[in-house]
Amino acid sequence: MILVIIDDLRPDHLGCYGYKRKVSAAIDAIAADSVVFDNAFSQAPYTLPSTISILTSLYPSSHGMFLIYKDKLSKRVQTIAEIFSAYQYRTAWFSLLKTPHLDVDIGFGRGFQDKVELGIEFEGRQELLYWIEKNRKHKFFLAMDIRRVHDFFRFIRTSSKHKAGHAVAEQGSSSGDVERDFYLKIVKLALEKKTPFNDPALVSGHRDLFNGIYSAEKVDQIKQLFPEGKRQQLDNIRDGLFSAWVRSEAGKDIQSWINAYDETVSTTDRELIKPLLRELKRLGLYDKTLIIITADHGEAFGEHNEYGHNSLVYEVNHVPLIIKMPYASKPWRTKELAQGVDIMPTALDLAGIAIPHQAQGKSLSGLLRQSNTNGPNEYVFEQGRNKSSIRSKEWRLIVPNMEKRKKGIKHLYHLSVDPHERNNLYYFEQKIASKMQNELDRWQGSLVSYKDKEYEFSPEIDRLTRERIRETGYW
Ligand SMILES: [Zn+2]
Repeated sequence: MILVIIDDLRPDHLGCYGYKRKVSAAIDAIAADSVVFDNAFSQAPYTLPSTISILTSLYPSSHGMFLIYKDKLSKRVQTIAEIFSAYQYRTAWFSLLKTPHLDVDIGFGRGFQDKVELGIEFEGRQELLYWIEKNRKHKFFLAMDIRRVHDFFRFIRTSSKHKAGHAVAEQGSSSGDVERDFYLKIVKLALEKKTPFNDPALVSGHRDLFNGIYSAEKVDQIKQLFPEGKRQQLDNIRDGLFSAWVRSEAGKDIQSWINAYDETVSTTDRELIKPLLRELKRLGLYDKTLIIITADHGEAFGEHNEYGHNSLVYEVNHVPLIIKMPYASKPWRTKELAQGVDIMPTALDLAGIAIPHQAQGKSLSGLLRQSNTNGPNEYVFEQGRNKSSIRSKEWRLIVPNMEKRKKGIKHLYHLSVDPHERNNLYYFEQKIASKMQNELDRWQGSLVSYKDKEYEFSPEIDRLTRERIRETGYW
């Protein structure tokens, strides 16, 4: 079985979801043998919590993985790879291994016998193809997170717009000192509690330099610049600089962003998915392999005045889900609701392995085999740092988490007439909003936390859940 997570991939930028640009020939070819889910959604709007949800079938507030450099996956949680390993599957994880959002040491590597770096330039591709060949006679679970699309902004081509950033980058590449000075400057500002976001040179330079943290070497380098206990600030600054840069640049020329994004989708498809597909066919494995292609979240291009991914808007919440069953007969699509936490129970179920009690998602196998035409989910849920969302086929409610609920803006969308979630009906459909809110609160109250004792409660967990967790002795 192969699980392909294309980090940051929006479904509506794929041919198999109706995109007009031809950027996804290989993915479309797999989709032509698959069940394609039109209504699949992520569990969180950014990589760390959402990807862990895929690998553990736990919602974010249950696995508690929100903050880089801080949160670590509890040993009490079983990962999909640990379960497949226990059933004598060969297991491998191909990803950026030391990026803080995917750090193998905080839980992403758990249960994988082989862990191999898969870089932005697809370094590791040959090892991936070789791994399949080497393990072709065994049962295997091969999973990967492909990061190229996530970092599309590195590939934006504009004539003069990012001059400042390029200037810093060029100097940076010829001299490590410039790069170090850049980091030191923002670290110093941050420690003085001053904002680096008003400095245009830092904001645009960030694109070329600060994203350099996505290598093990850089992470270590930057970690050393931050005093112990302050490292979380790195994440906040990175996010802040990124949003500042986006605000200053994206609104001006969104098409160049979309072009760069599409180019990274196309490059991923051509440079990784195509060779993967070819190798599976060459080895005679394609027909009998279960292939799942999905994303941890999408990307916003200003549709809701949001850019990037951090908010719960539709463009970030909606993800592709393409499942090629072994010996599939014919392709079809479903509008039933599916979500990231469903992937682990579905994969285990299809492999004939019992689904652990821990799993909070549901197996889609009945639907996939068309033995049950109804999907297993009446509702799907998403949890961000400050907001949560509940979605039925008909409605979606987004509300601030309990502690901020009185003040924050709430959203309610009528999906059958407004699938892209443009018209907020919260203040017009109070009855429906309160019904959805009750369902959301009931669901949140039912979640058990697997966060280990030494960690403090995260602010996302509301009071009732905390009390419940204390009562059940999980804390
Ligand atoms: Zn991501």
